[in-house]
Amino acid sequence: MAKRDYYEILGVSKDASPEEIKKAYRKLAMQYHPDRNQGDKDAEEKFKEAAEAYEVLSNPEKKAKYDRYGHSGLRGGEDFHSYQNVNDIFSHFSDIFGGAFGGSSIFDDFFGTSSSGRSRQRATGQPGSDLKITLKLTLEEIAKGTTKKVKIKKYNKCSTCNGTGAKSSSSFKTCSACNGTGEIRQVSRSIFGQFVNIQPCNNCGGTGKIISEPCSACKGDGRVHEESTIKINVPAGVSDGNYMTLRGEGNAGKNGGPAGDIIVVFEELTHEYFTRDGDNIIYDLYISYPDAVLGTEVEVPTLNGRAKLKIEPGTTAGKYLKMREKGIQHLNGHGAGDQLVRINIHVPKVITQKEKELLKELQKQPNMKIGN
Ligand SMILES: [Zn+2]
Ligand SMILES: [Zn+2]
Repeated sequence: MAKRDYYEILGVSKDASPEEIKKAYRKLAMQYHPDRNQGDKDAEEKFKEAAEAYEVLSNPEKKAKYDRYGHSGLRGGEDFHSYQNVNDIFSHFSDIFGGAFGGSSIFDDFFGTSSSGRSRQRATGQPGSDLKITLKLTLEEIAKGTTKKVKIKKYNKCSTCNGTGAKSSSSFKTCSACNGTGEIRQVSRSIFGQFVNIQPCNNCGGTGKIISEPCSACKGDGRVHEESTIKINVPAGVSDGNYMTLRGEGNAGKNGGPAGDIIVVFEELTHEYFTRDGDNIIYDLYISYPDAVLGTEVEVPTLNGRAKLKIEPGTTAGKYLKMREKGIQHLNGHGAGDQLVRINIHVPKVITQKEKELLKELQKQPNMKIGN
């Protein structure tokens, strides 16, 4: 069978613009779309034929070859496809069957059926909102991780009606706005044909049912505002500003809608002794000049009680002494940071006459001279 002329198939003239070609193809694609012509072999052939013609005429290079040499100038499989399967057409021309109508879901609506087999999920109730809470933590809590219980006011699913908002299972009537379908269909006409726009019904929230007798505990909301205790497992090693999400623990949705999340933001409290540097903690230790020269043993605070620390003779100011793994546990890892003890020399502002004499004597000693 001789091939029909591509321009003839699309019903456009040889000097048609790319826009005109696209428009003509789209019109034919809609007209012969398999979803609208179920089981019609003739329509399917026309649908495939139009796709092949469009493939060539929408491509400037292929179109030039066709204009010059006709069908014999084109190589099958490369310049054009003799489509066997209509699904190949959908994927090949996704701009026509998807984007051109602003997304495939709208395309589905156009035909009232789903060409890709996706089914519309019917919404039940309204989703609940997220809650954000700030959790203040001490360095001790952060160092090892902790479990906190926090009391918050939030919406919980009504236990009397199990979230439905109805007094009993028979306290429902069919929504008159959507006749129980949960959807509102709006039909409009365009040059491409009939347009069906499907929206969830606002009147019943997409459930198709209206509560005739509301639950007395929640007044039909399906949820109650009450104080709840939330348990939060804080992992070791979190930092100021880190957050974790407790999925589905936020406000319950209205009439059985999905619950929101709780977002827990961690706040690190200022510590009496320590400053944090990553997973290390820094402690400023003040020692006397004689102790710095002679060495000593001191007791320092740690995140886990007090501990002894040896100061070697000749320890200078500004030196860091490392107390291994006495810092903060690494987040999601093994091991911990260190406690770093920074040495400072205590210089007294007020001294006795005796001290003054001793210091003056010391000052004259050979090792006190600084070489400058
Ligand atoms: Zn209730
Ligand atoms: Zn409705």
